[in-house]
Amino acid sequence: MGFRGGYTFRGFEGTAQASLYEAEIPSSVRIPLVFAGTPLTVTKTAGETVSAGESLLSSEKSESITLPSPINGTIAEITDEYIELSGNGTTSFSRHPDHTRAPWHLDKNEAFSRFAASGGLVLFNGAVASPEDAAVVRTIVVNAVHNGPLDNAWKPGVTGGTHEFANGIRTLETLFPDASKVIGVNTKNAGFYRAADIAERANVAVLSDKYPQEHDRLIVRDTIGTTLVAPDGSRDHSILVLSHFDVFQAGEILTTGRPLIDRIVMVAGPGVSRPGWYRVRIGTPFADIKRTLFKSEERIPWRIIRGNVFEGNVLEDVDEAFTEPADNTVSVIREEATRTLFRFMLPMFAQDSYPVVTAAKALPFLPKRLDSNVHGGVRPCVQCNYCDEVCPVGIYPHIIWKHVTVDSVEQCFRFRPFDCVGCGLCDYVCPSKIAISGAVAEASTVYRNTRKTDEAAD
Ligand code: SF4
Ligand code: SF4
Repeated sequence: MGFRGGYTFRGFEGTAQASLYEAEIPSSVRIPLVFAGTPLTVTKTAGETVSAGESLLSSEKSESITLPSPINGTIAEITDEYIELSGNGTTSFSRHPDHTRAPWHLDKNEAFSRFAASGGLVLFNGAVASPEDAAVVRTIVVNAVHNGPLDNAWKPGVTGGTHEFANGIRTLETLFPDASKVIGVNTKNAGFYRAADIAERANVAVLSDKYPQEHDRLIVRDTIGTTLVAPDGSRDHSILVLSHFDVFQAGEILTTGRPLIDRIVMVAGPGVSRPGWYRVRIGTPFADIKRTLFKSEERIPWRIIRGNVFEGNVLEDVDEAFTEPADNTVSVIREEATRTLFRFMLPMFAQDSYPVVTAAKALPFLPKRLDSNVHGGVRPCVQCNYCDEVCPVGIYPHIIWKHVTVDSVEQCFRFRPFDCVGCGLCDYVCPSKIAISGAVAEASTVYRNTRKTDEAAD
């Protein structure tokens, strides 16, 4: 299945290889006392000893949300904002005492309560925090598409065979018995999901191999033909979007009793010594990830991005950052803000480019560089329309950007800035290095605020 716009990335240095590694057990972890907007209460006291997997945080608002301790150790500090644990470096963890290899025979409520007690609801990132929320879900869309510049070598076998993944699907079936399931996949990986034990429980939709097909709003649009987010910003709660890894970890929780002590995080980019997928304990200091997984910074400063290269946030202070339950990607690329004189005259063997102007287009087998791509700063719009061509939702980013820059944002609502999914492709292809997506996001926010004000006035 295809869609207008989008972009195919291939051959970037630092692309994650299809392997799953264990990150080093951190000597300490820090976890914020709020999850997906819900305040969490500490169930232990400072100085107490905890083992990995034991309940550490819970929510008074929703009794179902529990976060287990990610490591074995002691409670070092509890503040108004976070809890910090000192670890003893051991890898063991406590499994749920009643886990069974066939949890689908359990009563739905019993399965839900065991799943929640092991931290499983954290996988739903706030979308399902109680059995009542689960009852609203009618469709589960599994996002198994990987088309970004660093993750397109991914293979579903990274987390094991079809049996392990099917356990995850069966777990979802137990928790959400009334929901249909569809898995959106890349062409090359479709065979894995068509294995009998998966295909008998979920439909498989083969989607485009262009970025940003994997965006939640596009994967919902292209698998079940529905709008996930309305123009006013409201989300359809009958649809739950989960990643391949969420499904795999859901299966682990109920079938092996392994609590949610870690997340599977892609750590990739030219700054990573062994780019791939890592099990990272929740709350791990980014400084530990940098020390153990990054290449030396002696010659090149790295830009560390929490998230993918287009949509993630640049980490300004690595020493004050810790992985959170929702983290699934760390990208490490070159910081490259210096101006290159007569850059347009260089052959650029290793520089990706949307228009066919670089030698790299003719030599696709050469590894491509990935950097912050500023090279001298913003220039005027040259009306090339590349941003319009590449936009996957068919809006006109440069027209919206122009309205925002001349302070006539209300005039651009008819160009539907609220349809923007924030993929960042318009910024990537713009030869003038204009931050177009930021302007589109600003127009979308103004639209939504205007609607709220109008509705309140009615
Ligand atoms: S306008 Fe939004 S959806 Fe379109 S390319 Fe830019 S960031 Fe992506
Ligand atoms: S890609 Fe950049 S230069 Fe080209 S039309 Fe869009 S904003 Fe203008």
